[in-house]
Amino acid sequence: MTIRALAWNEFVHERNNKDVEALYPGGMHVAIAAALGAEGDIAVKTAVLQDAEHGLTEAALDETDVLLWWGHAAHDEVDDAIVERVAARVWGGMGLIVLHSGHFSKIFRKLMGAPCALKWREAGERERVWVVNPRHPIAAGLGENFELETEEMYGEPFSVPEPLETVFISWFQGGEVFRSGLTYRRGAGNIFYFRPGHEAYPTYHDKRVGQVLRNAVRWAFNPQPRIAKPGDAPEVPVDRAPEKITARGPSVH
Ligand code: ZN
Repeated sequence: MTIRALAWNEFVHERNNKDVEALYPGGMHVAIAAALGAEGDIAVKTAVLQDAEHGLTEAALDETDVLLWWGHAAHDEVDDAIVERVAARVWGGMGLIVLHSGHFSKIFRKLMGAPCALKWREAGERERVWVVNPRHPIAAGLGENFELETEEMYGEPFSVPEPLETVFISWFQGGEVFRSGLTYRRGAGNIFYFRPGHEAYPTYHDKRVGQVLRNAVRWAFNPQPRIAKPGDAPEVPVDRAPEKITARGPSVH
């Protein structure tokens, strides 16, 4: 079975910063899509903030099993109506993978219901990503840990809800640690937050990172039919209760 992924990117720093552009010609979504498609079981499309409706039309989401989200400089430019649309899709069963500075995106903060704040430092430090949940499907093929020679530091406390599972914890050269791979479930949707991926470094060209992204898409994919209107709250009238009852007491309806 082919999983349909959509790699979304705000696509800002690749167009206004020469160092980022040199690392990611055409945008980080191009590198992310290449990594996702490397083993043939994931069909990838891409979308960027500048597309009509940010490329997240109802039609595009109809064809998306798992959405990946990279944002940093332009979180506020994402239309609130689109955020509501994506949230409803996640509640209905679409997978969502939030990458790096997507921790501050409108969609992640809405789904977490928390500030999602953290400490940071841009100093090209070594990051050692520890697998703390061996045999978790998102850690498949990784071994005990892997290192990224240059990354931005993110430090605890990370003000997110307690996760369903913690898959990775990162250590940074400067001494801080961070829960860098967290799973959640919201409605019928599987959500994975993955920390590495600062735009000034070649993280999305790293083979281990590509493995994590593919693993995460496979894990987040929910093969069940989508719930079309996850916010529906139907009344069950007395005469349709599974057991026979008689209405009693006051009513406001
Ligand atoms: Zn960053």
